[in-house]
Parts: sequence; C-alpha cells; structure tokens
Amino acid sequence: MSAAAEPSIFSRIIAGEIPADVVFDGERVIAIRDIAPKAPVHLLVIPRDPQYRNVAELAAGDPALLAEMVATAQALADEHCGGEFRLVFNTGESAGQTVFHVHAHVLGGTLSEGSLG
Ligand code: 5GP
Repeated sequence: MSAAAEPSIFSRIIAGEIPADVVFDGERVIAIRDIAPKAPVHLLVIPRDPQYRNVAELAAGDPALLAEMVATAQALADEHCGGEFRLVFNTGESAGQTVFHVHAHVLGGTLSEGSLG
C-alpha cells in the first residue's frame, strides 16, 4: 500500500485501532475530543466515510452529509458549551490541515492564542 492510500488517523480511530474520547457515535458521523485542544471545548466531527479530503469535496459530493455534520456540531455545542461555537474546516496544508479526511473543529469558549482549530 502506498503512503497516500494508508488509512487516516481518523479511520483508525473509527476502526477502533486507536483509542479516542468519543462524544458522539452515529451511523454516518462520529465526534471525538481533540487530543490537543485549542479551546475549553474542542471537538472533531468526522464522517465515517474517508473518501472526502476536505469540506469542498464533501459539499460537492454529499451535501446532506455536510449538513449532518453541521447539525451534529450544533447538538454537541448545545450539550458542551451552551449552544454557541466556532466551526472550522482547515482546508489545505498552508491553512493548517494535517489530516486529509474531512473533519470539522467545534470550538467553544475562548480560543488559545493564535489558533483556529
Ligand atoms: P487539522 O489540523 O487537520 O485541521 O486537524 C487535525 C486535528 O486532529 C488536530 O487538531 C489534532 O490535534 C487532532 N488529532 C490528531 N491526531 C489525533 C488523535 O490521535 N486523536 C485525537 N483525538 N485527535 C487527534
């Protein structure tokens, strides 16, 4: 298997190969706590399907799944931070994306200095 075809860290978490603090476990979407939080509440909403590398690909390929991610983010924010949140999709390496399996950062409370997800 080439490096590019290796499962993402999120696919490995979804497969149960790597532990994570799962806060939502849905049919098409899961959510976990970020391992390096940049805000008092920092969750990652992740589709189980790894085929979309970023939000633009997801919006073009499966807009209903994107809408489900946003609804999940709102439900999690209702539960964890009073219903108000930032939703960040880093898109591309120069924008800070490190995992090329689309995911939304749900950030609640004041961000750590200089960071957006
Ligand atoms: P990106 O930089 O691609 O927008 O976001 C990837 C996020 O995944 C980062 O905020 C990083 O802290 C988080 N992350 C990377 N590896 C792990 C992991 O093994 N477990 C968890 N829970 N989060 C991770």
